[in-house]
Amino acid sequence: MSTAALIVAAGRGTRAGGSSGVPKQYALLAGEPLLTHTLRVFATHAALDVIQVVIGPGDKALYEAAAGRFGDRLAPAVTGGATRQESVMYGLLALQDRQPARVLIHDAARPFLDAAVIDRVLAALEASPGAIAAELLADTLKRASPRMTVAETIDRRGLWRAQTPQGFAFEAILAAHRRAAAAGLTEFTDDAALAEWAGLDVALVAGSPRNIKLTSAEDMDLAERVLAPSLAHLEPRTGSGFDVHRFAPGDGVWLCGVFVPHEARLEGHSDADVGLHALTDAILGALGEGDIGAHFAPSDPRWRGAPSRIFLEDAASRVRARGGRILNVDLTVLCEAPRIGPHREAMRAAIAEMLGISAARVGVKATTTEGLGFTGRREGIAALASATLLLPAGPN
Ligand code: MG
Repeated sequence: MSTAALIVAAGRGTRAGGSSGVPKQYALLAGEPLLTHTLRVFATHAALDVIQVVIGPGDKALYEAAAGRFGDRLAPAVTGGATRQESVMYGLLALQDRQPARVLIHDAARPFLDAAVIDRVLAALEASPGAIAAELLADTLKRASPRMTVAETIDRRGLWRAQTPQGFAFEAILAAHRRAAAAGLTEFTDDAALAEWAGLDVALVAGSPRNIKLTSAEDMDLAERVLAPSLAHLEPRTGSGFDVHRFAPGDGVWLCGVFVPHEARLEGHSDADVGLHALTDAILGALGEGDIGAHFAPSDPRWRGAPSRIFLEDAASRVRARGGRILNVDLTVLCEAPRIGPHREAMRAAIAEMLGISAARVGVKATTTEGLGFTGRREGIAALASATLLLPAGPN
């Protein structure tokens, strides 16, 4: 049995869109248009064969931006009418050629619909020509007097708040819409009311308390908080790294991803970038995933002369693969020469780019060892690094 979804996104309300003047269904929520969130629920549900969106006149560009990624099951959008009821009818007419057996009509401004509610509506449609998601009323209802005092308390027993989706046998709801339009009735605020008028049985199934209609700016604010990535499940991890490479005859050293002219080069299997090696080990250490040699064996000919950014970028991708992120890294280079200061900003920028973080999160420092030890004797360069990550908290 083929099933269509009809998403009503033709409203002109800008209340929730703030001062932007963008209709609320295109207002950004967690960085994406509200409609994108709503479409995703249907586009990822296996029971839907086609998704038809009804949009407002002039909203085509906004719609394309919001819907672009849901290609295959999305029918070309149609333009709505003067009322919600009229918009739904245009959507139903657009679906007619596809002859769906049933249709789920849903408000674009309800992005928190979940698949289980869709399942319940579809299940109820097996036995009824109509079925809607609804929530039993929990608040006590008051009727206000003209003086804004309580005139009456209304018995809430048996009262439900209608949500969407509202599902119907396709031909039955299309016929009901046609009859209502022919009778000059245009102000039904939901399709269940229209079906009721037409004498169709409409079953009530449990909706979801999360399936709210975002109407006001306050609703959008609340929704933003619901969708904001929570830091509660992340924990900080710190790692340290240390590396040394000796000088050999040459004309410069690779240090922190930057070539620094010098009277010697650094000896090593790769480009011997002692800074990036220490940093790679710091990140691997914070991950508890061994060291650079465990992932890039010095005996492997593939890494002969290789740019060390390969190692650091691999470590950063391991952080992302674990669902974590790099908070900051810090590096100290120990040598008498070359001087690091003139190259510091270029080094910070290079490391930031490799890690995909801001240069403000990258520290590069240098010190001599006062002529003491192997660095003091100018036999090589040493580097110390630390990295702090946020990783999803696990049992280990
Ligand atoms: Mg090394």
